[in-house]
Amino acid sequence: MNLLSWTQKFGTDEACRQYLLNQRWPQGFVCPQPDCGGREYWKIQRSDRTDVLYECTQCHHQVSLTAGTLFHRTKVALPVWFLAIYRVAVDKGGVSAVELARELGVSYPTAWLMHHKIQCAMGDRNGRYQLGGLVELDDAYFGGVSHGPGKRGRGTDQDPVVVGVSLTDHGHPQYVFLEAVESLQKEPVLEVLPRRVDLYGVWRSDGPDIYAAGAQAHQADHRVTLSRDPTLSRRIYVPV
Ligand SMILES: [Zn+2]
Repeated sequence: MNLLSWTQKFGTDEACRQYLLNQRWPQGFVCPQPDCGGREYWKIQRSDRTDVLYECTQCHHQVSLTAGTLFHRTKVALPVWFLAIYRVAVDKGGVSAVELARELGVSYPTAWLMHHKIQCAMGDRNGRYQLGGLVELDDAYFGGVSHGPGKRGRGTDQDPVVVGVSLTDHGHPQYVFLEAVESLQKEPVLEVLPRRVDLYGVWRSDGPDIYAAGAQAHQADHRVTLSRDPTLSRRIYVPV
């Protein structure tokens, strides 16, 4: 999405709020109180807060739309926040806090805080992000010194890293995750895979048993298609 369509979509307070509402309750409002589950609400705009509250008509519990988000108790208008998100997280070039302050017309400390919060949220999201569709799995080794021939690959003193790359329909790398593991034994690898890879996708590897075992343990579809072809089995290391 380019800047123009972004600002058209998120140009007003109401549009941003509606977006957050849909994100939070995709099937419509549900009261978060245990044992309530009310679906009707009143909207409350209090004079001492910029935030809008949603009050359950059944149990009168009030919930803030922005609670638990990076906009919580903010004094900055939502369209300004959304523009900052575009510049920091969506726009390819990225932006510094100084540039952000100038572009948004806010003070440098405010811009710095917004910049920081958006980057933290991006880090959180990346940590939670699962690769979907067709995912190639492999392992790599980082750090330490490789002492001569025979000390590379499994069995070295380097740290093992599990690597996953999701591929587009055309077979191009799309997203990647790398996660250091204690060892390439079944248990640590099985702990990583379901957090990082969608169980409903297709897992592909060049054959190490741990990935097949991981797929089997989580009932994911696993295909061994790269085995015995040295050019294909190195494809996982192509930088993306
Ligand atoms: Zn309720």
